[in-house]
Amino acid sequence: MRHNGCSAMLLTITNTKSPATDLGYLLHKNPRRVQSFDLSFGRVHVFYPDASANRCTAALLLDVDPVGLVRTRRGPSGEGGMLEQYVNDRPYVASSFMSVAIARVFNSAMAANSKDRPELVTVPLPLTARIAVLPCRGGEEFVRRLFEPIGYDVSTEHHPLDEKFPEWGEGSYYTVEIAKDVTLRDLLTHLYVLIPVLDADKHYWVGQDEVDKLLRHGEGWLQSHPEREVIVSRYLRGFRKLTREALARLTEDESIDPDAEQETKEAQEQAIEAPIRLHDARLQQVASQLKTSAAKRVLDLGCGEGKLVRELLKDKQFEEIVGMDVSYRSLELASERLHLDTLPPKQKERIKLIQGSLMYRDKRLAGFDAAAVVEVIEHLDEPRLAAFERVLFEFARPQTVVLTTPNAEYNVKFETLPAGQFRHRDHRFEWTREQFQKWANGIGDRFGYKVECKPVGDEDQQVGAPTQMGVFRQ
Ligand code: SAH
Repeated sequence: MRHNGCSAMLLTITNTKSPATDLGYLLHKNPRRVQSFDLSFGRVHVFYPDASANRCTAALLLDVDPVGLVRTRRGPSGEGGMLEQYVNDRPYVASSFMSVAIARVFNSAMAANSKDRPELVTVPLPLTARIAVLPCRGGEEFVRRLFEPIGYDVSTEHHPLDEKFPEWGEGSYYTVEIAKDVTLRDLLTHLYVLIPVLDADKHYWVGQDEVDKLLRHGEGWLQSHPEREVIVSRYLRGFRKLTREALARLTEDESIDPDAEQETKEAQEQAIEAPIRLHDARLQQVASQLKTSAAKRVLDLGCGEGKLVRELLKDKQFEEIVGMDVSYRSLELASERLHLDTLPPKQKERIKLIQGSLMYRDKRLAGFDAAAVVEVIEHLDEPRLAAFERVLFEFARPQTVVLTTPNAEYNVKFETLPAGQFRHRDHRFEWTREQFQKWANGIGDRFGYKVECKPVGDEDQQVGAPTQMGVFRQ
């Protein structure tokens, strides 16, 4: 196969279980339409070459703009000179761009959400993924070593560098097909992690974020994969420090396990805030707001280890308390601390702990009287707050929302906190009172809530209180 003139990467996914077009619901992409999306490195198109009852194929075609790519490229260059950047195989091979495209275009499917057919997402389907041109460092054998241990049938077709000149030898390009009875989410997750492992190149910064992404997408299969060392090292482009960290976290070395780390960070934050027992004050005020709202069924979103849930359990007014968190480990801790397994049935029935992300619309969150979101938003990426806002205020839409976040102005008062730093290493932002008020008012206007912002903790004349609370009422 000659690649000249060909500038697109192609991935197809085929379902052969009738009604095969359920694939469209799972991908959140209508089989009858071609849809196109702009990404920073090019354009991606999703269409269905085949959409019959017995066989449905979705194609993701990625059109990379190689010149735009070089021009807009940020981060370290370090891949040879300019010429190499213009004259390379980037545009037509399934490289890490493909992973980025999968994550962007099929994000709901990767989060195992399906608006219209939620019951489908956990059902394994007979799926086949075909990647038209995959560069395989390590050849066919390596492709098999990656996909076979996780249960796929693998077939490959090797492409010589140039059919007209077989004496040039074999190139390292393959068409790869993998097939298995698998949920769509798992298939996409496997492709997302393993495609860049096969490719020598990677087009985004390899930083701490990548370790987190890798571990998140590797959950449930990477740890027991016989090639996990190679996968981690290649995914992280050989960066030794990150590779070591990822492997240690993966093998559950408790001292650097992500949740253990989260716990030390939490402890650090508490140490900084300790003199005023801020966390207790916060929980009390949130609980009292929920009480005055007359709520019976409440959500604690980003419930962490369940401190607020425990507080609310003391009050019979709250008949149903649902704690949600993205971290499974936090939920385990919450369940331990609440002694869920030994609680009398009457108490236990009032509590439900569920895993989920606030970045995705979730039917389980609908129909509640009130929601608490205590010290959570500052852990979300600021550009993605808009998604959270819709998930909570547009779709879940409780009558009352009580939300807290640090007041950045107050940080000068924490003696142990160096200037300009956040209170917690995992905070993505901390807002001043003005910034918070503006954000809260925006929510009120857009989603039809009345807004009140209040201080929590001892108020300083100049910088205000350490925590700020927004109360939103429909
Ligand atoms: N509300 C708790 C915990 C605050 S720490 C308390 O006040 O004690 C922030 C919590 O938000 C963590 O438990 C973290 O796992 C959770 N979190 C972060 N991002 C999230 C997301 N996208 N969806 C749900 N929870 C998230």
